[in-house]
Amino acid sequence: MVGVIPTPSGGRTLSLRIEGISKTYGNGVQALKSLSLTIGNNMFGLLGPNGAGKSTLMRTIATLQDPDEGSIWLDELNVMQNKDAVRRVLGYLPQEFGVYPKMNAVDMLHHLAVMKGITNAGERKDQVEALLKQTNLWDVRKKTLSGYSGGMKQRFGIAQALLGKPRLIIVDEPTAGLDPAERNRFLNLLSSIGQNTVVILSTHIVDDVKELCPRMAIIAGGQVLLEGSPNESLELLRGRIYSRLVRSEEEMNEVQAHFDVISTQMTAGLHQVRVYAESSPGDGFTPIESDLEDVYFLNLKRHQKAV
Ligand code: ADP
Repeated sequence: MVGVIPTPSGGRTLSLRIEGISKTYGNGVQALKSLSLTIGNNMFGLLGPNGAGKSTLMRTIATLQDPDEGSIWLDELNVMQNKDAVRRVLGYLPQEFGVYPKMNAVDMLHHLAVMKGITNAGERKDQVEALLKQTNLWDVRKKTLSGYSGGMKQRFGIAQALLGKPRLIIVDEPTAGLDPAERNRFLNLLSSIGQNTVVILSTHIVDDVKELCPRMAIIAGGQVLLEGSPNESLELLRGRIYSRLVRSEEEMNEVQAHFDVISTQMTAGLHQVRVYAESSPGDGFTPIESDLEDVYFLNLKRHQKAV
């Protein structure tokens, strides 16, 4: 059977196949350009800068908008032709998660659970309580949502996305705007649900992917630039990243002109420059370990040069 892979535990993994999706908006912006991607169980990181097409892709997978071309398959199910069936197994935390009314978390979750079709009162109560505990909102369940912090709102967003025990979960830029402690708590929560479900995490924050995702894709300009595991892509850069300090604007211009600069970072008032080179570039550069930001910035740079 297409896309259904039995797991050693006897369970089933879901497979999401995106095949040649294109989308041009009414204003002429082509947000997706024949994009193809295969996403299996566990946490999948979709990494890309603002405007890359991530939200367009997320909304399309979530059946909220149609592509101009291409198809999406959830196992053997054609997503666009089976929207209701897909919505039954889908949990979605959009980038802009609604307004927060003067309602508390318990009442709001019950309301959303009814809308999701969980009509059995006992089952609804069990799920709402379990989710409030899982997302660490139990103690504040009676507070109005409008008084929640950014992190609490995002955890509530995950709670509502998990109603109905979805097998496909889409979270769009969930950590933007969270402080480090809230972000940590949120990422831990996400990783705890990623085991037996497909979780697609869209983000422009490299560390989100580094910390959580066994598989990832980098997208920009509506296209996939790289698909694989963070470790595999780091391996490709091993021994090819060099760094040195740059002390002046003039020196920086020199370095920019002669080397393949990936990124620069201010350290104690000086620029720390990272470059890509097949072999030692000399000139004061020393080899350093590659990190996922190198992979990301290098791919974006190559893409910008190509367009
Ligand atoms: P990302 O989520 O990676 O920031 P988006 O999917 O939001 O990317 O946007 C991709 C491109 O499509 C951007 O250039 C954006 O301005 C444009 N875009 C997104 N939504 C719309 C829309 N509803 N109408 C017109 N253009 C849009």
